[in-house]
This record gives sequence, C-alpha cells and structure tokens, in this order.
Amino acid sequence: MVENAQEAPPAELLAKLKSYPFLAQYNLNLFCLKKDSSAADEFLPCGSIVQDALSNEIGLNFIGRSLKPELPAKKTAVYRYNGGFLSFVVSFNIGDTDFCLVGNGVRDKLIDFWQLERLSRADKVDVFSLLSQLERLPVATVHELEELAEHIHEMLPALHPGEMYQSLYDQTVNRLAMVVGLLEQMDELKSVNDLVSFTTELLAFVFHFPKVALALLDADRGTYSFVGQMGLERVEDIAKDRLGELLTKDHIKKPLNFDEETAALFSGVSAQNVTLFPLKAEGSHIGFISLFDNEPQAVDALLVELLAAKAAAKIRQLKKETEHLQLNALSNRLLSVTNTLLFAENKEELYKTILELAADLLNSTQGSIMLMDKSGENLHIVFTMGMSLNLAQCMTVKVGKGIAGKVAKTGIPLLVNDIEKDTRIGIKNRPRFKSKSLISIPLKLKDKTIGVLNLSDKGDLGVFTESDKDLLTSFANLASLIIERTLVIEESVIFEKMAVTDALTGLYNRRFLKNRLEEELTRSIRQKLNLTILFIDLDHFKIYNDLCGHIAGDEVLRKTAAIIKASLRDMDVVARYGGEEFCAILPGTSKMESLAVAERIRAGIEREVFPEEENLPLGRLTTSIGVASFPEDGHTFTSLVHAADVALYEAKTVGRNTVVVARHVMDKD
Ligand code: GH3
Ligand code: MG
Ligand code: MG
Repeated sequence: MVENAQEAPPAELLAKLKSYPFLAQYNLNLFCLKKDSSAADEFLPCGSIVQDALSNEIGLNFIGRSLKPELPAKKTAVYRYNGGFLSFVVSFNIGDTDFCLVGNGVRDKLIDFWQLERLSRADKVDVFSLLSQLERLPVATVHELEELAEHIHEMLPALHPGEMYQSLYDQTVNRLAMVVGLLEQMDELKSVNDLVSFTTELLAFVFHFPKVALALLDADRGTYSFVGQMGLERVEDIAKDRLGELLTKDHIKKPLNFDEETAALFSGVSAQNVTLFPLKAEGSHIGFISLFDNEPQAVDALLVELLAAKAAAKIRQLKKETEHLQLNALSNRLLSVTNTLLFAENKEELYKTILELAADLLNSTQGSIMLMDKSGENLHIVFTMGMSLNLAQCMTVKVGKGIAGKVAKTGIPLLVNDIEKDTRIGIKNRPRFKSKSLISIPLKLKDKTIGVLNLSDKGDLGVFTESDKDLLTSFANLASLIIERTLVIEESVIFEKMAVTDALTGLYNRRFLKNRLEEELTRSIRQKLNLTILFIDLDHFKIYNDLCGHIAGDEVLRKTAAIIKASLRDMDVVARYGGEEFCAILPGTSKMESLAVAERIRAGIEREVFPEEENLPLGRLTTSIGVASFPEDGHTFTSLVHAADVALYEAKTVGRNTVVVARHVMDKD
C-alpha cells in the first residue's frame, strides 16, 4: 500500500466521492496545497469532476479568493454568493499533504435578482439567461450544505488510503485482465489499419486517456504519420529527424511539457503535455504512441508499454505478410508483363510496350527509354511518352551528363524527390514536367548497361518511393533481357538479308540468285539475248549421306561447287539453290550452246573421285541436270525455274547421271 500521501491519486478520490448519491448533483473540485519555500503557499487545483460548467466557473471564481492556506483550519465552510449560488469547502489532509474539496452546483431557494444582475454585468452575460441557468440548478439550504460538508469531513479518513487504494487496486487488476484479453484479440487482427484502430480505441476507452495518437514510420517519406487518433483534430506528420532524441530512454514514458519546441512538433494539437511510448520491432523504431494531457499512473504506464510492445510486434508481422503478398502479386504481374513483351512484333513496338507498362506500373504520365549506342558514349531516345518521338530521336544524351547520363555511367538507379532540391542534380525543374519527382533506372544485362528507363510525373503528382524504385528495377531487368533478345534476332535477320553467299560452298545463295536472274532476264529481254539456266542436283545424295555421314556429304557439296564453277565462264552466275541443288545462270547463252556446259559439269562430277562412292546405286557419285532457256521456256524467274525443274525431274526418271532440256514448255506468263 502507498504510504506517501503525495502519491494519492486525486482523480480516484474524486471519482469515489462522486459515486456517492448525495454528491451526485455537485461539481467537485480538489485543490492541493503546494508548499513552496520560494513563494507563498497556495492551493492549486489538482482535479475536478464537473456537472454544470457555468455554476462551477462562477463558484470557483468566488471561492478562489478564499482558498488561502489558513482555510484548512476551519475544516468545513459553506458560502452563498452572487445572488443565490451555494458552495461548500471541506479541508482535509492525507499524510502531510493538505487538500481542499470544493463543491458547488446547487442554489438557494431564494434568488437575489439584484446581485445576479451585478454578476451578469461584470461577466457581460445576459441576466435572463443567467437566471434561467440558476433556476435550473438543484435547490439546497445553507444548513443542508453545512451538514453535508461535515459528513464528508468525517467520512474522508475512511476513504483513504485503504479503501481508495483497494478500489484502485481492484481497478488495476480488472484493467490488467481486460488488457490481457484484448491483447489476445489483437492476434486475430488481419491488417495494420485494424490494429491501429484497435490500439487507439483501447487506450481511449479502456484506459480513459483523453487524447491519443498513434504514429507509424513511413520509411519512404522519412516521416512519422499519425495513422490513428482519438480525441484530437488532425495531427500533422513529423519528420523522422525532428523527433530526434524524444524517442530515447531519457524522454519516453515521461510527460513532456508543451514548450514551444514540443508544441511545434505536434502541430495541430492543443495540449499541456505529451507522454511518448515508442513502438519498437526488431530493435528499430517503427512508430510511437502519444498520450496528451494525461500522465499515466505507474501501473497504467506499464500496461501501455506492454500494449506498445505487442502492437509493434504485430504491426511488423502484418507488414511482413503484406510485403510477402505484394511480392507474390508482383511476380504474377511481372509474369504477365513478360508475356506482353515477348509478343512485341518488332523493336519499335517493344520499346513502346516497355514504356507503357513501366508507366502503368508506377502510375506516371511521362517517360522515355534511351539506349546506348555502339560506342558506349551516347544515349539515344528510342521511345517517349509526353514528348514528340521525332523530336526526341534527334536528341542524344552524353553518357555521364545529366540525370540519365549519370545513371547510364554508374549503373545505379536514381530516385529524385525534388529535382530542384536534390543536391545530386540541383537544377531548375523544366517546365515540361509537372512534378518535381522522377525516377531513372539503368537497363542492364548483368553488369553491362544498355540503356536507361526514365519516368516522371506520377499520377497524383506524388513522389516516387523506394518501393517504386525496387519495382521498376525488377521490371527494367526483365525489359533489358527482352530488348537484347529482340535486337539479336533482328540483327540476325538483317545479317541474313544482307548475306549473299552460302557459307558451306562459297557460292551465291538462292535469294541472290533470284535477284540476279531477274536482272539478267530484264537485260536479256531488252537486248533480245538468250539466257539459259541449269538446275543441277546430286544423285542419290541421301544415300551418300547415310553411308558416309554428313561431314563427308558436305565435302562432296564443296567439291561439286568447285567443279561447277570451274566449268562456267566468268560472266555466268552459280548459286546453291537448296541442300544438294545448284543453279547456274548462263546469260547470252542459248539452249544448244549451254548443253556443252551442262555436259562438262555432269562429266566432271562423274569423273571426280569421291570416297566410298562405289557403294551408291550407280556405283559412282553423279548428277542430273535440267536445262531451261529464255525465251522459249519462260520469261520470268518462276517460269524458268519451273521449266528447269521439270526437266531435272525427267532426268531423274530416265535413270539419273544425265542432262535433260526442257521440251517446249509453253511460256504461260
Ligand atoms: P535424288 O537422286 O532423287 O536427287 O535423291 P537424293 O537422295 O539426292 O534426293 P533427296 O532430295 O531425297 O535428298 C537430298 C539429300 O541431300 C537429303 C540430305 O541428306 C542431303 N543434304 C541436303 N543438304 C545437305 C547439306 O547441306 N549437307 C549434307 N551433307 N547433306 C545435305
Ligand atoms: Mg534434291
Ligand atoms: Mg538429289
């Protein structure tokens, strides 16, 4: 039990008194004598329970003059004042401390109108409204009040300390049991928001703290945001650094007076003091609970601490769960994004899709994709949003210069909250951009930077956050891979298009042949010259491959190519048409003239010695040749090739190792 009366809780005593039916209608005010060596002793208010604010104010105004240290000598007193208000005073002491209980809120049966009028004049209140207020008060007599005061005086010793502390003790035990029960309920909560509301409500309704606010750290903004509050107007966010020392051991759990500095910190709150309880999880501050204008009793402080620890742990757990869920959602999103990107038809469409998806992911309206050129010195804009692409494509950015240039050089993503204030940039915001926040992410393949992805103007003109940066970095990694893949494919297609020769034989390829034949045909038509084509196909080459293997087969193809070439004139053109098919164009040569050439080729191959050729059906490696000529067999590439092919087919059917000329195939074109 508490021996020292200084620790007697006035609020508990007042509550107890007020709970007696005979005091129910009174305003009760408790004063405590403050013994101060430097100044005159005086009674200071230390608690009140007010029923009727006006009568209490009038009562305290009056009694204020009488609450002198000498008053307790009288033990009890009753006053009639201001036209009919009644008040009683009981003085008592607990241990060494003198207290004074002042009760008011009743009136005399008789109302002195003149005195009331004086009061209303002094207070500039309308006398009639004052009168009606006074009339409403319960009626009592001076005598009744004297008896009441006596009675209170007698019963007070019985109220303290034993009974009072017992009730306090019971209350604490009850509250503890309740808090323990509620803490269990906390485990069931599914979101941080629910937890915040639950905690603030618990502090307000179970502990009866009048003004409660709960702040959580917003790591992206570097501020504590008041996400939960009771009994307060809106409390402004507090920058993390400004709170500084206040969450350290020396300051927490103790009331901090609202001096100028503290008041500035909690802007929007009007209070006398604040007590802070940090929310700590895994060793770092994730927020705090602030209780205004109510210094928690030791036991309550302990419970609040318990509550804070539990709430912090639970918040951390819920945040982790949400992050996990978000991560899952994110990988699903990235997966669907990958599909979209993989379906891009060409690189232009790919750049557009990448930028649009990135802008969509971060809810922004401006952006660009820049790619590094081969020299690695310049970035070229390949797609933009919010700026004409034609204009953008004319601009190059030097690697190392400007925001994107720096990102390309360092390979490190850049998140700028305020382009004007950021010391890394320090430039005026360009008028084209609405918001001052931007994000620039390198497009990287392992350690090689291939470009930069830039976004700005977030939807609500908000700032990009660290999590935006992480999200865009994951996306950029994916986009880089797909860009690289697309570029490689397109390059190989271009390369293939540009290539005119066949790698195995060194002869021209089919595409080149087609173009060349068309050119030669045009010329032949113009100059009225003959032109002949030879279709040359190795006999039973599949069998040769099966017998000797592909490598030996390739060697045969190379030798054949050399024999054909050696059999032709310089002006003739020979190409590898397909696997083991060759096609020769003999400009200015008639069918008859070309027969000698075809025969030279056939004989040349027949004569040539190839490994294991004796195992072939004809006992040696041979060719069949189809011959077709302009103008008699066709006027176009297609018709001539067709005629030669038909002749070749005939050569095969008649037994192979022979030359067949197209026979009067009508030119159908
Ligand atoms: P046919 O006398 O009727 O022309 O019989 P064939 O076996 O020559 O004709 P077919 O068109 O059935 O087979 C062609 C074969 O040529 C199939 C393949 O094994 C072979 N071939 C095609 N291209 C190449 C190549 O680049 N290298 C090698 N080693 N063989 C090839
Ligand atoms: Mg063939
Ligand atoms: Mg063949």
